[in-house]
Amino acid sequence: MDILIKNGTVVTSKEIKQADILVSKDKIDSIKPCGSFHEEVCLKVIDASNMLVMPGGVDVHTHLDMPFMGTKSTDDFRTGTIAAAMGGTTSIVDYVIPNKHESLKKAVNKWHKKAVDKAVIDYGFHVALVPPVDKILREFDYLVEAGITSVKCFLAYKNSLMLSDADLYRVFTKAAEHKLLVCVHAENGEIIDYLTKKYLKEGRKEPVCHADSRPPELEDEAVSRVIKISKLTETPVYFAHLSSKGGIKEIKRAKKNKQKVFAETCPQYMTFNQHKYLSEDFEAAKYVMSPPLRKYKHSSYIKKSLKDGIIDVVATDHCPFNFNKEKQRGIRDFTRIPNGIPGIETRMPVMFNEMIVKMGMCLSKFVEVNCAKPAKIFGLSQKGDIKPGKDADIVLWNPDIIWKIKNKNLHENVDYSAFEDYVVTGKPVTIISRGEIIVENGELKAEPGRGLYINRQISNSAYS
Ligand SMILES: [Zn+2]
Repeated sequence: MDILIKNGTVVTSKEIKQADILVSKDKIDSIKPCGSFHEEVCLKVIDASNMLVMPGGVDVHTHLDMPFMGTKSTDDFRTGTIAAAMGGTTSIVDYVIPNKHESLKKAVNKWHKKAVDKAVIDYGFHVALVPPVDKILREFDYLVEAGITSVKCFLAYKNSLMLSDADLYRVFTKAAEHKLLVCVHAENGEIIDYLTKKYLKEGRKEPVCHADSRPPELEDEAVSRVIKISKLTETPVYFAHLSSKGGIKEIKRAKKNKQKVFAETCPQYMTFNQHKYLSEDFEAAKYVMSPPLRKYKHSSYIKKSLKDGIIDVVATDHCPFNFNKEKQRGIRDFTRIPNGIPGIETRMPVMFNEMIVKMGMCLSKFVEVNCAKPAKIFGLSQKGDIKPGKDADIVLWNPDIIWKIKNKNLHENVDYSAFEDYVVTGKPVTIISRGEIIVENGELKAEPGRGLYINRQISNSAYS
């Protein structure tokens, strides 16, 4: 046997127990009461006394090496996956964004090239559907064969990524035939476009206008509209990065009505409020993302919904741009600030601190929303939990370390962290990916290119 992890507190999505874990090659072989295994036959023994032993994090919403708003997200698959690993994440699902009129196959191949020699952890892809959709709808067979079982539709970003309602209807209908899970960016792009132009005409140009032009009601409306289209076409739907109370209430109602609806939020929507946009200087640009940060009542409702099980997944929407470079494009025009913030390295620690330390939630709930459910919903059948037969993606977590997030200590390739000075209790220290120790006591051991592409299965949460 290859690795024995002994005396740890093993946390799965279902239970918490003192146990030893035996890893054989790239898989979890067995989990037994402490002392059950013979140490002598193991190549490596890790003493996990006083540690939590949890599945590696699964971040299903990232944007690495992505061209966007005239620039490019600053983490590529090397720096982005190193940062993910250091933060306790062992799998990501990144969004392939095709160019207009580009075939999905061509776009996917381009993304494979970006990742193959660089990734240190395993990665899968979703594909965004960019208008016009006529030709790409015929490529859904290819997507399933290529292990891509989810697509993304944008209802915002008019004149670039935004789909019309009719296109959305066509995508939903076709996706159900192929059992693809449709992810939606739900904001009303038509009204956002109108408000944006109106503010510019009035001479308003500061970052807060970004939030003013995308009020929460426009998210509520889009969520409600999509839920109805999903019902009409009998197609399951996954809402990315929810930020508004009204939108989540719509989802709660749909779930109650037994509709197949899944909800994702991000750490930033739980931890920050709109006051971040009120700073006099341009610092506010660090928090320009879509949807924007909301008022307190929204973030507190998101936390409650996470606890109540209405929110299924916490992902990052990691999309970094340097404050001193790319973000400065918008210094005289808020519409030119690239939308997005970093967070791939800080998700697990911030969520541990929010869910476990501050809110006193169960450790299994932490594993559920950050590892198990995202893996299950997106068909990463080998990932997301600690069970015999699954990939040995394991995090040893010291729950007692208290530390402050400082960008200079992070590995994300960007000049700021949205979570600068946030104090965290608990830290991932040793990370195992497919039976290989990739981070040992906080030190990176992995070579770029060791990460493998994840051929995803059809979502059996969506299509059971
Ligand atoms: Zn995104």
